[in-house]
Amino acid sequence: ATPTVILDIRDLVVRFGGILALDSVGFTAEAGRILGLIGPNGAGKTTVFNCLSRLCRPNAGDILFRGKPLSGLRRHRIAGAGIGRTFQNVSLFDHLGVRDNILVGGHVLGRAGFLAHTLRLGRVAREEADLHDRATEMIAFMGLAGLDNRRVADLPFPVRKRVELARALMSRPHLLLLDEPAAGLNHEEVEVLKEQIRAIRDRLGTAILLVEHHMNLVMSVSDKVVAMNFGRKVAEGLPGEIAQNPEVIRTYLGMG
Ligand code: ATP
Repeated sequence: ATPTVILDIRDLVVRFGGILALDSVGFTAEAGRILGLIGPNGAGKTTVFNCLSRLCRPNAGDILFRGKPLSGLRRHRIAGAGIGRTFQNVSLFDHLGVRDNILVGGHVLGRAGFLAHTLRLGRVAREEADLHDRATEMIAFMGLAGLDNRRVADLPFPVRKRVELARALMSRPHLLLLDEPAAGLNHEEVEVLKEQIRAIRDRLGTAILLVEHHMNLVMSVSDKVVAMNFGRKVAEGLPGEIAQNPEVIRTYLGMG
């Protein structure tokens, strides 16, 4: 069967003063697939992410998410619309526990989620119970069982990254944006991360857009890879094709 396009980026242009950060970039991502986005520093990868989370307003072009233009959505509606995200620098509430941090991710589901903490009656109480059930599932899914009440600040970096992933998954995103998830992880931790990324795709059915400098990770988990350089898409294809692509090889050799 032909895969469903979940994300359709068309001719995206972003300028910062005189810098053309994105120069007519276009590609599609498919539901339930992993798309790797690679390129040297300054290629424009983070700018693509920022356009997707509406932190950046494109000067031209369109982004269709599940067939609808993203430009119609306010920034705080992005997560509710089904786009989850993690950051290059883990952004958690350090003084809160693991479960509480993860529960925060469920609150993008709507006002009922927020109310649940103050009104513990009827429907709202049930919704809060649902959130806790989902948190329990995500805690187990990310291998965080037993750490519910541990203060995030006291946990090692790779574990904090897993808490951030669990939080991003709370809202059942259709598309998950991962910004350099392998940064700061050792070889063994990257191997665990590979399995977790594949599990998010295979068991939760989530599409993933993966920005990553760790080539071994990108090439081993991605279903498709888009390579960028100087704000342009320079190649797109299967990981094996991209790894052999002369332009991509030149770009990375040029990078040193
Ligand atoms: P990295 O791998 O280092 O994160 P990247 O591929 O994510 O790089 P971007 O951060 O998207 O690249 O940057 C693309 C270009 O836009 C760069 O030339 C960068 O300096 C410029 N740029 C990004 N954000 C801004 C901004 N807020 N103001 C001015 N220039 C910016």
